[in-house]
Amino acid sequence: MEEFNPHIYAQQISPDEYKRQAQVETEQQVKQLRQSDEYQRWINTCRTCGVCWYEGGVSPGCSECGGHPMTRPCPICSGMCNKIWNRDTDMSHSYSQAHWDGECALPIEQQQAHMLMALTGTSDSITEAMKDLSSSSND
Ligand SMILES: [Zn+2]
Ligand SMILES: [Zn+2]
Repeated sequence: MEEFNPHIYAQQISPDEYKRQAQVETEQQVKQLRQSDEYQRWINTCRTCGVCWYEGGVSPGCSECGGHPMTRPCPICSGMCNKIWNRDTDMSHSYSQAHWDGECALPIEQQQAHMLMALTGTSDSITEAMKDLSSSSND
């Protein structure tokens, strides 16, 4: 007859609970890690040129940096709406090109005008574009 083994008995009642607790601990550790300066510095580092956006670094001409570190003025109207956009770090890494999260506070017609002006680079064509927009919005 085998002896009763309290060690095996303890393992039999608790593996699920043990796993659950281990997972909760891991999640908390991951959460803490993601909030740590070390992680933020690592994740917010340009994979193209290696500067750290988290420390405010940007390389001129680097498309992944995009000319700004962690935040930038609204790119649609060049900051006229006073909105600050946040870098989408994952997207920036994936596409090796700066991606930004945010919304322009200007009316949509003005946003479109600013975008056209950015494309054409002249204020003459913006007047033309505004005319086009107002006429085409009626159909
Ligand atoms: Zn860069
Ligand atoms: Zn804007």
